[in-house]
Amino acid sequence: MEMAQRARALQAQAQAQAQTQTHGQAEGLARGGGREVISLALGEPDFPTPGPVVEAACRAARAGETRYPPLTGTPALKQAVRDKFARENGLDFADGEILVGNGGKQILFNALMATLEPGAEVVIPRPYWASYPLTVRMLGGTPVFVDCPEADGFRLDAGALAGAIGPRTRWVILNLPCNPTGASCDEAGLRAIADVLRRHPHVWILCDEIYEHLLFTSQSHRSLASLAPDLLPRLLILSGVSKTYAMTGWRIGFGAGPARLIAAMSVVQGNATSGACSVSQAAAAAALRGDQGVVGVMRDTYRARRDRIVAALRAMPGVRCALPDGAFYAYPSIAGCIGRTSPGGRLIDSDKAFALALLEEQHVAVVQGSAFGMSPYLRLSTAAADAALDEACRRMDAFCRGLTLA
Ligand code: PLP
Repeated sequence: MEMAQRARALQAQAQAQAQTQTHGQAEGLARGGGREVISLALGEPDFPTPGPVVEAACRAARAGETRYPPLTGTPALKQAVRDKFARENGLDFADGEILVGNGGKQILFNALMATLEPGAEVVIPRPYWASYPLTVRMLGGTPVFVDCPEADGFRLDAGALAGAIGPRTRWVILNLPCNPTGASCDEAGLRAIADVLRRHPHVWILCDEIYEHLLFTSQSHRSLASLAPDLLPRLLILSGVSKTYAMTGWRIGFGAGPARLIAAMSVVQGNATSGACSVSQAAAAAALRGDQGVVGVMRDTYRARRDRIVAALRAMPGVRCALPDGAFYAYPSIAGCIGRTSPGGRLIDSDKAFALALLEEQHVAVVQGSAFGMSPYLRLSTAAADAALDEACRRMDAFCRGLTLA
């Protein structure tokens, strides 16, 4: 890719990242000595990493597991990952079909870096996790978006997906449950998506299942790979420990897919990072092998918080909120607030204007929907204690009630 083009892509990335960093602004305000800022902007669990996981890391460090780890992951963690897929997803992967990286994010990067050439298209359901289009663009590819409207519960429609796939499509990315909407897909929907993908054998499928354990529907998570094993030769599962075990800072993610793809991704990783932190890998293995009860406790807590925040949002004038199936976000529409003026005299002409005014006037940080490709919405994280959620909703409610038509 041309230097100037790469520079533009990197600049766009920096801007988009800045958009999602209302949290930083929020901290700035807090330091300014004003009212305490409540941040519902971050996409990471507020729970501590489970104690036995931390202990396992300490033991590994003391035992001298401090040298360069094997490039694709330690044997212990790779085996734990394989066992996880067998136990939870009914999928049997060989050692050469697993790659451990520095977070799920590096798995995404490795996969796209290994396979995209300029002009290749990547189909991305919208709203999306911002890293998908940013990484695609950074690597010279072209994102092609498929809208998942609120009226459909933000769920991906197989017919709409079919319309977005063309001869230049290299990947289709599926993120279930989804960041930022929490939308998932039932078995019938997944089967319809599988049928579409079967008709396009040149397309690779990236299933980002990093939120698989944070699903609140009566149907538990079903991996597309286990439902349509015929797609496995061109399907990569991205997952990790960040969200499930409250381990964002440990930076461990993993990918499972065909050996030839994993081999190409490993070359990218080898040149970039030489593998993932050895001590974190010991911690991740302990998380996957340890008491899974903690996962259920966190899931139940997120579910209760989802119910709490959705009820509060639905009571605010000008706000609508679909019920998220999973993850730890709510994605309310603020369409009914657009065109109004805030109590502080700010014109709310976009979700970004809403988010900034809410931060300035009520000291609540949220992320505007434009950062995820669909406006006018907000993303509120439920990774916060009940008291903080209640107070944030009380302030947002007061803000909405104070909006006037100029
Ligand atoms: N996929 C999705 C949808 C995410 O929201 C995130 C993190 O926010 C990731 C992947 C990557 O997570 P990590 O790199 O912390 O493992």
